[in-house]
Amino acid sequence: MQGVAILGSTGSVGSSALAVIARHPERFRVVALSGQRRLDVLVEQSRAFHPDLVVVPTPAAAREIAPALPPATRVLVGPAGLEEAAGDPRATTVIAAIVGAAGLLPALAAARAGKRLLLANKEALVMSGRLFMEAVARGGATLLPLDSEHNAIFQCLPGDGRGAGSGVSRLILSASGGPFRSLPLDRFDTITPDQACAHPTWRMGRKISVDSATMMNKGLELIEACWLFGVEQRQVDILIHPQSIVHSLVEYADGSVLAQLGNPDMRTPIAHALGWPVRIESGVERLDLARIARLEFSEPDLRRFPALHLAREAAAAGGDTPAALNAANEIAVAAFLAGALPFPRIAAVVAEVLEGWSPAEPDTIEAVQASDARARRLAQQALGRYAVEV
Ligand code: NAD
Ligand code: MG
Repeated sequence: MQGVAILGSTGSVGSSALAVIARHPERFRVVALSGQRRLDVLVEQSRAFHPDLVVVPTPAAAREIAPALPPATRVLVGPAGLEEAAGDPRATTVIAAIVGAAGLLPALAAARAGKRLLLANKEALVMSGRLFMEAVARGGATLLPLDSEHNAIFQCLPGDGRGAGSGVSRLILSASGGPFRSLPLDRFDTITPDQACAHPTWRMGRKISVDSATMMNKGLELIEACWLFGVEQRQVDILIHPQSIVHSLVEYADGSVLAQLGNPDMRTPIAHALGWPVRIESGVERLDLARIARLEFSEPDLRRFPALHLAREAAAAGGDTPAALNAANEIAVAAFLAGALPFPRIAAVVAEVLEGWSPAEPDTIEAVQASDARARRLAQQALGRYAVEV
């Protein structure tokens, strides 16, 4: 029986994880759940899965939720509560499904505690790549990617993700291109948050949906792939594939290319990582290639998606530049979602922060957090110049 802590259980990835777990009560037991805003969903999940721990953001939320929870469930509060849940000995598996920089410390706590760590929270790895991978190695954790592209690459690499050196020549990340793949560029100024969040193939949280629309998501995934698989950014290509059926590919020295295919449904990579190395049933509809009939691929247009170029530059610059890229992007995306920044300005804010950035190699997580805070301040200043009246 595998004890599982799900950090960010009320979100899109978190609820998909619970949907897979619910199909295998003999295999998995839920140890911890967490949510930031939707307390009603957290209550519903707790009544269905009877976790030992539930983590909420504030003491007020704890008082509000406690009477509605199963009697044996303990309530923990805030970032310290998340770290405690991530390290709880009853959980051998931790699913890191919080969005953004808020997920960094709890994911690190799971790495340090030597958990089987199923990582969806790519921002954590982008921010602190080297330190994060060191914590995984030192803590004896097993890092399994949940991001569908990285999970696909993991499946296509020899030795289940550990053989990136053995004859591998390139990794190829596929990308849907988001909702604006063919929208005329002169209409980008009119894009609304709801349009940006209406992804053509995936149902996801709002922040990652906007990242998919700008393709910053693929930029973050490029950096994520470098750390997970120990490759340089120039060994990672990005290919637009609007059907989202081929989740990514690995090219070998002999010309072979291996790909992982499946319907665009996060329950597949989640079931893969939860069961690994055993394959378990996920509830995902079987892939009907004859019905899909056509799989298309093309090069991304960097004029349309400047975020891709920014992420590549940040990866090449190294040090704390990816942390600055991520922080500036989080600020710009939040402003766009609040209706205070035009869509094309998201990449402009990030570019402005990176322009003046001189990379330093952070030796501690505190140094990463200081870089993150500095980039957020610079992004706020840039916003002042680009923002619109709300
Ligand atoms: P979401 O917005 O649906 O859910 C985010 C979860 O994090 C929620 O449970 C929320 O309550 C919690 N949360 C938000 N802010 C928090 C904070 N400050 N402190 C603590 N908890 C907080 O997001 P999502 O789409 O599920 O994505 C989660 C992560 O997984 C992101 O890093 C995303 O990039 C990654 N990811 C998502 C998908 C997907 O299909 N949704 C695919 C690949 C990777
Ligand atoms: Mg992805």
